Amino acid sequence: MGINEKFKEKNTVISFEIFPPKETSSLNTVYNTVDALAHLHPDYISVTYGAGGTSKNKTVEISSIIKNKYNIDSLAHLTCISSCKNEIDEILFNLQENNINNVLALRGDIPHDVVFSIPNPIEFNYSSDLISYVKSKGDFCVAAACYPEGHLDSPTKESDWENLQYKINLGTDFLISQLFFENKYFYQLNDHLKEKGINTPLQAGIMPITNKAQINKIISLCGAKLPKRYENIINKFGDSPQALQDAGIAYATEQIIDLLANGVDGIHIYTMNKPEIAKQIVRNISSVVNSINNIY
Ligand code: FAD
Repeated sequence: MGINEKFKEKNTVISFEIFPPKETSSLNTVYNTVDALAHLHPDYISVTYGAGGTSKNKTVEISSIIKNKYNIDSLAHLTCISSCKNEIDEILFNLQENNINNVLALRGDIPHDVVFSIPNPIEFNYSSDLISYVKSKGDFCVAAACYPEGHLDSPTKESDWENLQYKINLGTDFLISQLFFENKYFYQLNDHLKEKGINTPLQAGIMPITNKAQINKIISLCGAKLPKRYENIINKFGDSPQALQDAGIAYATEQIIDLLANGVDGIHIYTMNKPEIAKQIVRNISSVVNSINNIY
């Protein structure tokens, strides 16, 4: 079953995102994470794809464990800017061989810290090229990324949202948003899509910030604005790891409860491979999610 079917069955869908370990770490670390997250009964778990290093080979392997050992749907991320068609074909074949038919089709970014070759000429310029390619290759459920505050490469938020509409028209089955710290940006995107008559399910991406070192890196990579009240939390508790963790979890919980109260199609939690944080958030929101999904 494609993950898109879950949005028809449930009023709101809850998922987690994990990433493969760095080349130097053992896969066991991520399997412990998967094991802990599986106990929280998410609707699916997504696995990121690192275009440059060998971790790209681990995405299929980890997605397969999630699907075939834990019987939880997995969503394999796949980027295309640095790949040729043969590589994409091989990955899609491996996914099918492993019973995985959910792909998050992304352009990706050209990493600056890894030496690797880029096809010349580039075979996939945008995620839209990959979306239609994956769709042409079999019975895949294809998700795409979207940006409530606009993508960093786009001159305006509006032009990015026009490109998003093109991605949707190609048959994107559901959307996952970039992380954001102010729900108003997500609601603006949601309203924009509804005004255009688009009903493609849209999941809100939420990242609990629990570590001071993360913040600047994340913000520079994704361009999300940090509101003053979050800045205050970081300034006040940044040097007290437990306090910052508790405050980050409370902030993310508040964001999620507000989104759920406003009828969001789903929440995608960027877990940063920290199951204990996902666990606390799930505990905080479970009665609300159960009530929305009529589970008593
Ligand atoms: P695109 O949709 O191609 O958009 C990129 C830019 O091009 C945007 O400015 C857009 O407006 C513009 N554009 C799009 N289509 C067209 C078109 N047809 N013509 C002209 N302009 C166009 N990165 C990884 O490396 N690995 C991951 O696993 C990963 N997972 C992610 C998961 C989520 C939920 C999100 C939100 C991001 C993720 N990223 C990941 C980051 C992502 O790769 C970057 O944000 C990247 O810069 C853009 O990817 P995209 O698929 O949104 O690109």
